[in-house]
Amino acid sequence: MPGHSHQDSHAHHDDSGGGHGHVHEDMFSVEEAYERVMAAFAPLEGVETPILDTLGQVLAQDIDSPLDLPPLANSAMDGYAVRSDDIKGASAEAPKTLSVIGLVAAGQVSSQTVAPGTAIRIMTGAPIPDGADTVVPFEETDEVARRQSGRPLDQVEVHSSLARGFHVRPSGEDVKKGERVLESGTVVRVAEIGVMASLGLSKARVIRRPVVAILATGDELVPADQPLEEGKIFDSNSFTVAASVAACGGVPRILGIARDNLEDLHRKLSETAGSDLVVTSAGVSKGDYDIVKDVLTERGNINFWSVRMRPAKPLAFGHLRQDGGRPIPLLGLPGNPVSAMVAFEMFARPAIYTMLGKVRLARPMVEGILTGPIYNGDGRRVYARVEVTKKDGTYYANPTGPQGSNILTSMSRANALAICPEDLPSKEAGEKVQIIMLNWNEEVDL
Ligand code: AMP
Ligand code: MG
Repeated sequence: MPGHSHQDSHAHHDDSGGGHGHVHEDMFSVEEAYERVMAAFAPLEGVETPILDTLGQVLAQDIDSPLDLPPLANSAMDGYAVRSDDIKGASAEAPKTLSVIGLVAAGQVSSQTVAPGTAIRIMTGAPIPDGADTVVPFEETDEVARRQSGRPLDQVEVHSSLARGFHVRPSGEDVKKGERVLESGTVVRVAEIGVMASLGLSKARVIRRPVVAILATGDELVPADQPLEEGKIFDSNSFTVAASVAACGGVPRILGIARDNLEDLHRKLSETAGSDLVVTSAGVSKGDYDIVKDVLTERGNINFWSVRMRPAKPLAFGHLRQDGGRPIPLLGLPGNPVSAMVAFEMFARPAIYTMLGKVRLARPMVEGILTGPIYNGDGRRVYARVEVTKKDGTYYANPTGPQGSNILTSMSRANALAICPEDLPSKEAGEKVQIIMLNWNEEVDL
């Protein structure tokens, strides 16, 4: 920046002229801003990871089964392993009697063979003994009556004629050896962890979690647990951002609070080395002192935007230069707590998902009926905090009260954002709205 000094920029912090002298601000639609941010992100590399740690991550390898599953044909019931030929025509009125020659429990392999006229007691999951081809459940024999009456247990009456193979789980029924069980790109859920465990795998290659450095800026900020002097506020953005990073699968690295001075900002920004994304808050809006913008501009290729949305109009995005390393993308969120959360939701979450290798980036959306108005004074897309409820199959979006971008408790009362498009002056009660569901889980009655 030739001819520029920080003194100059400090003198220039009136906001009358549509932006600062030296920092060019672009005005973008939500889509344009989204495209520009997302263009900077790609999936990170895969790393071998213990399967229990992979929940929510994306497989970076195909998984082919090293074995048949189940490995051996086994019983689906507690009962008797028999030869189906021996029980043809059996019924309660005309039972077939077989000699019981042994017992096989799950985990054992019987050394006995079921010869014609014999049966082996078998438990669920136990391998089918040689000679047997069918399992008769206890319920279809005289098992219970025989035990109650004290009759000898070396014989059993079979009361039904079961087709060959009944209640036998064949080997390889679930998975054949060599079969592709899970594909690269699959998001690991509980079931995938179970499948990998059932194949005997303790580790899998998954795309690693991005490390997100988090920096709050502002002279007014006080960390929790410290006395709140007059004029100060507690830093909440570090916490909402860190919790959001964790919630979407990233690893938060809180750097703390940088004061609005050159030294502090430079020092904190130097601590971002090794992260995959830097998320700052505050200091990027038009009315701000230039200091945060100056430092960001000096340390990288960062652009300052106005996005046609409410909340979260000011946004910074670009890359921080790293000494001897690759530039790190930086997203500068607005300072107001609700704006920071909404901007994170719209831009940082999809970026983190992309680094995680996910391809489904959008939240679930539903259409619902608005129960109170959303106003739109200046042609921005409004994301109104609403509590979504469901009645008789219809979703209702109930605005959570004052929508100021500083009213963080209204975010706590909301489970969704309802949209008033930029080209409408308002959405009125009773109208249909598009709703972005933020929480759709067991905590929410839907
Ligand atoms: P700024 O973007 O610096 O103009 O900040 C906008 C508003 O957000 C101001 O009221 C700040 O006090 C507030 N703010 C900035 N950073 C934080 C933070 N980390 N936690 C809570 N409020 C903040
Ligand atoms: Mg500030």
